[in-house]
Amino acid sequence: MKLILRGHHLLCLKGFQGFGYDEKFVENMTEVNDLRKSENTKIKLTSSPDDICKACPNLKNSICENASQNSRIVSMDNEVLKKLDSGREYDAPELFEKIDSIFNSKESVSEICFNCMWHEKCLFYQKLSNNPSYKV
Ligand code: SF4
Repeated sequence: MKLILRGHHLLCLKGFQGFGYDEKFVENMTEVNDLRKSENTKIKLTSSPDDICKACPNLKNSICENASQNSRIVSMDNEVLKKLDSGREYDAPELFEKIDSIFNSKESVSEICFNCMWHEKCLFYQKLSNNPSYKV
């Protein structure tokens, strides 16, 4: 199985606990989150609409919401992708181990996550913020 994932969604998947924009989005995100945990899954990286965006109500005319929001999202992707080799295909477990080792403090994700509306619900961000009520 192969997944196409945009850079910042690697962090979103780490923090996912079942919340999302609508039912279809959550169902798809749950499926993608299960697949990314399988050792048989390969991942190709992108800074464009991916296998999560395809079920998102915010995807309009192949961009995220509008030109300015899309450009903000692409910058978030690039902040993650610049730490990886975006030209190659990764085995899913290897990629997420790498993500864990690179993004291991609140400071390491601050440029990417600081403006995200899902802060309060994101297990990954809460864990990095040392919120004791969250465990990943
Ligand atoms: S379309 Fe935008 S809001 Fe929706 S999943 Fe993709 S990046 Fe996120």
